[in-house]
Amino acid sequence: MKPASKRVIVVGGGTSGSALAARLSEATGLDVTLLEIGADDDAYGDGILDPARAPEAWLGMQPVAMTAMQNGAGVIPMIQGRLLGGTSAVNGLATLRGLPEDYDGWAAMGLSGWGWDEVKDTFIAAETDRDFGPSPIHGDRGPLPVRRWRRKEMGRAQLAFYDGMVELGVRTVDDINDPRQLPGLGIFPVTVDGDASRVTTSRAYLTPQVRARPNLTIRTRSEVTSLIVDKRRVKGVVLSTGESIEGDEVVVTAGALWTPNLLMQSGIGPAGHLADHGIAAHVDLPVGSTMSDHIGPGLRYRHDGPRGGTAGPAQSLLIGASNGVDIDYHAFPIAPPLRDGPTEFVMAVFLLRSSGKGSVRLAERPGEGPVVVAPPLPDDANERLRHAFMRIAAWEASSAARSLGCTPVDPLDLTAPEAPGIARERYTISYGHMAGTCPMGTVLDADCRVLGVEGLRVADASVMPTIPSGNTYLGCVMVAERIARKMMAQERV
Ligand SMILES: Cc1cc2nc3c(=O)[nH]c(=O)nc-3n(C[C@H](O)[C@H](O)[C@H](O)COP(=O)(O)OP(=O)(O)OC[C@H]3O[C@@H](n4cnc5c(N)ncnc54)[C@H](O)[C@@H]3O)c2cc1C
Repeated sequence: MKPASKRVIVVGGGTSGSALAARLSEATGLDVTLLEIGADDDAYGDGILDPARAPEAWLGMQPVAMTAMQNGAGVIPMIQGRLLGGTSAVNGLATLRGLPEDYDGWAAMGLSGWGWDEVKDTFIAAETDRDFGPSPIHGDRGPLPVRRWRRKEMGRAQLAFYDGMVELGVRTVDDINDPRQLPGLGIFPVTVDGDASRVTTSRAYLTPQVRARPNLTIRTRSEVTSLIVDKRRVKGVVLSTGESIEGDEVVVTAGALWTPNLLMQSGIGPAGHLADHGIAAHVDLPVGSTMSDHIGPGLRYRHDGPRGGTAGPAQSLLIGASNGVDIDYHAFPIAPPLRDGPTEFVMAVFLLRSSGKGSVRLAERPGEGPVVVAPPLPDDANERLRHAFMRIAAWEASSAARSLGCTPVDPLDLTAPEAPGIARERYTISYGHMAGTCPMGTVLDADCRVLGVEGLRVADASVMPTIPSGNTYLGCVMVAERIARKMMAQERV
């Protein structure tokens, strides 16, 4: 007799959840149900596919969940994609891996299977790099089509940034995803198809063939409001309609803010905090007690004439070093907020390596979004920002910047000693790289199983014990790919 399939429920069909559900459903011994609160990814027309229109999402015009982060000086607005594909449908498309040291650091924490050599293989397996694959560090068989923007696709401000940095003598690199080439200045790798349309993880992984699998059910507009927990064993989920769905294993991939929120609402979290909200803890774990992000000042500029180009916001990138080989900040201009709006751009400066931890906590009233506190910048932040600001000041004087007719919207003497402090207070923004809210090591084991609870895993940005030195989307895909493989190996399916 054929053994019954194991029922796996994936909560959240975003960046990680789409990849996870697609990979798990390759195993016919698994019966996979993917539950996504938002609509399918074709519900919003071409707006999502056009990289140049990403900033519309950032203004809340596309399907997003708006939240806010408390940051000493004020409140930083934050968005996350709320549709199949999740934040991969509204982000800046930058497709970066981070550095070997990031993942070797995870392995050094005792998290076996997460060192660079292992995760590098997963990055390679996930991509089809149209510029550099196949090669020892790039793949040509994976679901994600990756290439670098071409100069003719880039906006005028982005080209001026790149050219101005070259004028200043900054070394250029062909491939920012090749750690051997760094530090340097390069063009962002992005996940786009042949005509430069965005490819979300739902489009890359949940292809029509995958959706047709009899062991995969995708339910959109399905909000999970709690997990069914019985004697420290998760047995399924409850939807906002009151419907219960039973499963043998639940994997939560609702993103770095909503995953800890759901766990805490379900009685999995810090017992004291849950008690304050009248929730009995099934297990006392530091869920949401840590959160990393890349935050930093975004300096706004205005320039003459049209924006130009067709590419998305993330185009040219400087990964700089202030002390030896340490990569400690990067600066890149992003597009103006609207296609036809004023020609403004943001020179974003953030510390890639940042050890400060914020937090995610339940809101006072049930059903409201989580309360998010930004991570503090490290003690040496001003020194590192000063280094970056000196470089940007030099860029302002370059002939590339001058021929763009570029002026700061809110002038600040970047060379003044007090500039970093002022900029931090006035212009700090989040780059949307929230991570590490249910980290491996304290909340999860190295296979991303929730400690002390049977039948429950997490597999999204929440699991990262430290934030990688780069944008986080590709890392989320890597996590999903690795957890899918681990689950399939453990089930022998
Ligand atoms: C504005 C912005 C720009 C960015 N730009 C870049 C970039 O250029 N490059 C880069 O690498 N990274 C970028 N990032 C970060 C990156 O996109 C994210 O780290 C990554 O996509 C997060 O993936 P995830 O799977 O953890 O969560 P998500 O992709 O957010 O997926 C979570 C999913 O869960 C669903 N969900 C939530 N709650 C529930 C529930 N209760 N029930 C059912 N479903 C639920 C959501 O609708 C969503 O689909 C950006 C982020 C932002 C906000």
